[in-house]
Amino acid sequence: MRASRFFISTLKEAPSDAEIVSHQLMMRAGMIKRLGSGIYTYMPMGLKVIRKVEAIVREEMNDAAAIELLMPLVQPAELWQETGRWDKMGPELLRIKDRHGRDYAFQPTAEEVMTDVVRSEIKSYRQLPLNFYHIQTKFRDERRPRFGLMRGREFTMKDAYSFDRDLAGMQASYKVMYDAYTRIFTRFGLKFRAVAADNGAIGGSGSHEFHVIASTGEDAVVYCPTSDYAANMEAAEALPLAAARPAPAQDLVKTSTPDATKCEAVAELLKLDLAQTVKTIALTVETEKDGKSTKQYFMLLLRGDHELNEIKVGKVAGLAAHRFSTEAEIDEVYGCVPGYLGPIGTLGPVTVVADRTVANMADFVCGANDAGYHYTGANWGRDAAEPAIVADLRNVVEGDASPDGKGVLAIERGIEVGHVFQLGTAYSEAMKATFLDENGKPAPLQMGCYGIGITRILGAAIEQNFDDKGIVWPTSLAPFELVLCPMGMDRSEAVKEAAETLYAEAKAAGIDVILDDRGLRPGGMFADWELIGVPHRVVIGDRGLKEGNLEYQGRRDTEATAVPVADVIGFIK
Ligand code: ATP
Ligand code: MG
Ligand code: MG
Ligand code: MG
Repeated sequence: MRASRFFISTLKEAPSDAEIVSHQLMMRAGMIKRLGSGIYTYMPMGLKVIRKVEAIVREEMNDAAAIELLMPLVQPAELWQETGRWDKMGPELLRIKDRHGRDYAFQPTAEEVMTDVVRSEIKSYRQLPLNFYHIQTKFRDERRPRFGLMRGREFTMKDAYSFDRDLAGMQASYKVMYDAYTRIFTRFGLKFRAVAADNGAIGGSGSHEFHVIASTGEDAVVYCPTSDYAANMEAAEALPLAAARPAPAQDLVKTSTPDATKCEAVAELLKLDLAQTVKTIALTVETEKDGKSTKQYFMLLLRGDHELNEIKVGKVAGLAAHRFSTEAEIDEVYGCVPGYLGPIGTLGPVTVVADRTVANMADFVCGANDAGYHYTGANWGRDAAEPAIVADLRNVVEGDASPDGKGVLAIERGIEVGHVFQLGTAYSEAMKATFLDENGKPAPLQMGCYGIGITRILGAAIEQNFDDKGIVWPTSLAPFELVLCPMGMDRSEAVKEAAETLYAEAKAAGIDVILDDRGLRPGGMFADWELIGVPHRVVIGDRGLKEGNLEYQGRRDTEATAVPVADVIGFIK
């Protein structure tokens, strides 16, 4: 590629709505362009990275014997009604009508269509196992799209679906996908962690999320540094850890332990309340330090569409005086958005001791911070599906004993980039997808499903790899592996010739190379490629050439190294 024939459009400043570093840098590097809320054009530079992500995913999926097909974006409502998800998905499902007034969904995922394909194609156990996948655009009308490609409304996902004759087969298929995911994220060159996850509304018996580890991650993952234990917060909290935890040393006024029975009672109570439009409940958190009592306030939002229920924490005591009636108002006062709570204040473990509206609330909300860990007391209904209050309690803190008895728990922040599920027969039963077993009897297909957020990977990779100059792509994901920067190509025949030769050699060696023939000054040229994050840079100048050298600098290197012209390709390879 020659830079003069490619489209490069960099910015000195990120637009003000870009809140996190990956969004800012992708905008500045000209990788994406916003069209509307959560909807982006993938610009040529960004698309190059997306294609690299896709290529790795595709290779590993094919190697794992998954078969590629492509399912439609627009899907008839009838299929979604068969599984009940037409109603369950709530407002996250984008619904459209055709000219005849028929309902369709724009796919947020493709279990229904996949199951429909398979129920008419698979007759016998002899055709199994099978695993189909596609890399396709998704639309989810996210409550709050944000952070560029991290939480878009339109985004690209790789989703795969396995079909087996029995449970053992399904578990084997799941293991194959789990291992393929491990290879995929390793090839991306990212620090990641696979954690046990709750299946939540999707049902089934087992599930793991793959998280890219980054301090800006929206999710908390819990792991044990001295054993294999790793889980997302929801799954960790579903375990009876609270009992094992020693009583907090802080001077709490009162403590309480979450209790599943009480939670259900509260859920019942909330369902009644959910019929209302927007309503907030203030909860007082009272702590005592050095004999001084402090009160903080949780806000619980209730919305009529059953979608959002979040506990909010006030930054300072005294917020009780505020009355919030809309989400926007809360945003304004708190400066943070529902569903995303960063570390707040310096409170130790806290307990809700009183509330103003729901009498039993005190018994199930608890939170802890200081360790940069979510304060969210309850976050049910987050995925706009079935509420899962019990599993969503924040009840695990750093230093808790582990569930496997092999150490204490640590918490770090992660970005969910992949998710594998053992679905079982939930969809095949609902949609009557059966096959004939060895005895000629119809049996429901055992299913698994496996997602990777293709476009989210870009954001996650940047959150983990950047510096003050810009993005630092792992080589496997970089839009270009190598940039050639000739100094005064138009003035010096020697430079022009050396640059053209090296360009041809690099291409022949299979290196994804770009020759910057735009005629920019060195400062501007280097700044562009540092911002864009190309891992290898070679500067070709008259001075070096006289000594038979070129200047090599890796994106993380602080200085350039003189490398003999003939050795450059070998040096990079
Ligand atoms: P999240 O918890 O972040 O909302 P999810 O659990 O709803 O994600 P899944 O249904 O498990 O997502 O989808 C599989 C993958 O698709 C996720 O692991 C994530 O990488 C990606 N993904 C989901 N929602 C989005 C989005 N709005 N924008 C970009 N990628 C997404
Ligand atoms: Mg989601
Ligand atoms: Mg999730
Ligand atoms: Mg998920």
